[in-house]
Amino acid sequence: MRKPIVAIVGRPNTGKSTLFNYLAGKRISIIDDTPGVTRDRIYADFEWRDMVFTLVDTGGIEPESKDEMKIHMKNQASIAIETADAIIFLTDIKTGMTDEDLQIAAMLRKSGKSIVLAVNKVDKIGDDPPEIYEFYNLGLGDFYSISSAQKLGIGDLLDALYELFENDLSFADTDQDDAVKIAVIGKPNSGKSSIVNRIIGEERMIVSEIAGTTRDAIDTRVKINGKEYIFIDTAGIRKKNKVEESVEYYSVLRAVSAVERADVCLIIIDALEGVTEQDTKVAGIAHESGKACVIIVNKWDLVEKETKTLENYKKEVASKLAYMAYAPILFISAKTGQRFNRITELIDYVYDQASIRIATGMLNDVINEATAMVPPPTDKGKRLKIYYMTQVSVRPPEFVVFINKKDLFHFSYKRYLENSLRKNFGFEGSPIKIIAREKGDRE
Ligand code: GDP
Ligand code: GDP
Repeated sequence: MRKPIVAIVGRPNTGKSTLFNYLAGKRISIIDDTPGVTRDRIYADFEWRDMVFTLVDTGGIEPESKDEMKIHMKNQASIAIETADAIIFLTDIKTGMTDEDLQIAAMLRKSGKSIVLAVNKVDKIGDDPPEIYEFYNLGLGDFYSISSAQKLGIGDLLDALYELFENDLSFADTDQDDAVKIAVIGKPNSGKSSIVNRIIGEERMIVSEIAGTTRDAIDTRVKINGKEYIFIDTAGIRKKNKVEESVEYYSVLRAVSAVERADVCLIIIDALEGVTEQDTKVAGIAHESGKACVIIVNKWDLVEKETKTLENYKKEVASKLAYMAYAPILFISAKTGQRFNRITELIDYVYDQASIRIATGMLNDVINEATAMVPPPTDKGKRLKIYYMTQVSVRPPEFVVFINKKDLFHFSYKRYLENSLRKNFGFEGSPIKIIAREKGDRE
């Protein structure tokens, strides 16, 4: 199932970050935390009942002055409307309902998106103060009274979210579309729109730019060498909005949303700037959500070349994005079209690699050989025992390994097994998940 994306919006100081941090604290981390990405995190997965949501926080950015407030909140609400599947609109009882709340509510109502209204800072159970009823004036119907600080009422709020998606088939794994979906992500000015325009512009066979649903309308379907591809959120890529682009939050939110819907991510690096901190964050989104990736260094025409420029550059990219050592690196120019034919080749390649399924017998031969070559570690006299491994899914390849004791399965040995799998089977361009189960664990 595709994870629903939930954005928290609301005035400054209503408690958005407090709620985010509480829910993010419950988060399940499937792929190990990515260095450099964890700090200032504004998105996180959390699980409620049997559903996983991606939560995005808007608390980190606040307008500098009262004058900017209106524009700021308009931007914040509109980007949330555009990229999230549902919105938690947070208000607070201490301040009461304000004009700003009314303005946000008006935008949200018009959007037709699923909105869950919450009144925060109701710190005592059971007795909603009478003034809470003014929040009905927002015209969003019932609200949930919660306390993010005291962790009250949040279960009901999450139930409401759950029920929104429980029966929504558009999130189910029933996608029959064969077209590979591609997210083109990277920081502003790295050349995303130039690349997408060149690919789409060169291939005049655009199948449809505006399809039935509002979601599809922002995507572009294109046929290249007889195969169909869908470029996700081309509207967001090609549309320029200065305010939006200047705030990192917006590009991260767009990336989270595009990556979640994609099969393959193209991570665009500006050759003149090299890999920046923001690039690390954007790439981390693709890595953590388990998507196949190609790292693309764009504007290669602007780099002065001497011998080994390319090799040295490649080494530097690889070391800065070390957690993505599996991803191929391609050097292109959206200006001259250099190596553009390689882009779709690599998209197909990493997609296929992420789809590999290994027969259990073969898998265990490799594991047996690996454990014979480098014996599992011991800790306080107890040795890790690896009994059996099986592949449970593809895109990304996910493996369950049965062992004697989880505590003994250290990161370094997990990494060693991952490398052994890669050496034997490839999986180039794709993250791999290895999940340890103790023998006797249920499921
Ligand atoms: P944001 O600007 O919307 O992200 O708000 P913050 O999460 O930073 O919270 C603003 C202030 O409200 C902080 O001082 C929080 O400690 C406080 N706060 C958040 N949630 C609650 C709550 O449930 N009850 C009370 N009394 N204070 C809260
Ligand atoms: P986006 O913000 O990531 O969509 O970046 P754009 O596609 O708008 O590109 C930002 C700027 O870089 C524009 O002025 C482009 O013309 C320029 N640009 C993009 N790709 C290349 C390239 O490969 N070579 C050169 N020289 N300029 C490029």
